Amino acid sequence: MQRFSNGLLVAMMGVAMALAAMAFKTEAEQVIAQQGLTAQHYLQIKAAGLDKAQLTYADIAPLLQQQQHNPALRFSQLGQSLLGTPIWQIDIGNGPVKVLAWSQMHGDESTATASLLDLLALLSTAEGQHWLQGWQDKLTLRVIPMLNPDGAAVGSRFNSMGIDINRDARALQTPEGRLLMQAAKAFKPDFGLNLHDQNRFHAVGDSHKQATISLLAPAFNAAKDIDAARSKAMQLIADMAQVLAHELPGHLAKYDDTFSWRSFGDTFAGMGISTVLIEAGGHPADDNRQVARRLISQLLVMSLNSIASDAYRQQPLTAYQQIPFNRDGGIKDLLIDKLQIASNGQTAQVDLAIDLDIEAAKHARIRDLGDLSIYGSYHRFNASGLQYQAPKAYALSQPLALDEAGYIALLRQGYSHFSGDASLLTLNTSLPVLVNPKRLPGDTPQRQHSATFLLVNADGVQLALLNGQLLDLASATLLNPLGT
Ligand SMILES: [Zn+2]
Repeated sequence: MQRFSNGLLVAMMGVAMALAAMAFKTEAEQVIAQQGLTAQHYLQIKAAGLDKAQLTYADIAPLLQQQQHNPALRFSQLGQSLLGTPIWQIDIGNGPVKVLAWSQMHGDESTATASLLDLLALLSTAEGQHWLQGWQDKLTLRVIPMLNPDGAAVGSRFNSMGIDINRDARALQTPEGRLLMQAAKAFKPDFGLNLHDQNRFHAVGDSHKQATISLLAPAFNAAKDIDAARSKAMQLIADMAQVLAHELPGHLAKYDDTFSWRSFGDTFAGMGISTVLIEAGGHPADDNRQVARRLISQLLVMSLNSIASDAYRQQPLTAYQQIPFNRDGGIKDLLIDKLQIASNGQTAQVDLAIDLDIEAAKHARIRDLGDLSIYGSYHRFNASGLQYQAPKAYALSQPLALDEAGYIALLRQGYSHFSGDASLLTLNTSLPVLVNPKRLPGDTPQRQHSATFLLVNADGVQLALLNGQLLDLASATLLNPLGT
């Protein structure tokens, strides 16, 4: 009797614990279903090892292999790239409404590939699995991460034949484009999520803010008509806009909506698929686009919630139409405001826009000058009270060991770079040092010339712009270091 009671007690405790566990999991499930994926929660679940400027198949293959153990994810090989790299599709859920999401058809646009792997990582957590139980009978999601692994391998937009897969939707001459079209025709998705990266120079409308995310419900004809499928895509985007207004206000724009006959998004829109183009863009201090990656992961979770619950149908089309368009070139890498220049006996105050080549830190150019107050930038420096001074070479004629103090002293003397035999120079400084730079500006700054000159006042040289890097001589610090 005693033993029976104990057994009963243990059994009852077990039931209570199971109930408590169920309640906890249900709560966790509801959190994602109701609040979406919070930024804080995202940090706990995001896929490891993908904080890179460019992802290749080698980066994602081990993660895909890990995820194959999750029974909720049904892996199959969609096919292979022209050079033989596998292209995977992963099906999740069994519901009647179908969502197809594909990334990196442009090989050098890998941000959202990481987001798709974040989504798979979420689905391998306990709360992710319970979240899935909330929609798996309503939706089937098919994910194709990295449609263009050959382009990804060499950091190219194009496939290995040199063809832009996203201009191959009609001609279908690339194996990768054919695979995507096959997948769409076999799967017959209701919704398509077309995942890309855009250049970092897009501003949100007339604002000075980066378009960190741009969205579009692509047109299916030149008249940009709105049919039922496109309406649904616009309504889903209106839902996405609400998430972004909460997560990163002011950084959402609408992508150019000109009809693009050869593109997949526009072609799928014409096939009755509610297609949403999602473009990852730049953000300050975020060269690897981890801000856009997180936002897209959040948008994916929200979209599945919204489509499963039909919540998007509540959105008015005006919420989509009110999103400002991308302003191409509205953002500059560096703006130097109000620098005094002298030209033919007259002085003027000008703003200068500098573009960097972040990847190689080469060829930083003066992109524009004049009144540039309409532009935003990653870095901005007010040069009021400072004058432009042309670059000047220090000729190398004997070995020179250059430490930071000696270098600063030369810059103060008005030298901006070295000329002659580079092997004579031994660098004992981590500051940027230019040897034989090309296409230097003259007595006034000029467009397309090297972003290399000095900024002076009555007390002498104060700053040096060295191939786009602005060095403050007093503190020996770069005011716009790369990667920030
Ligand atoms: Zn693209």
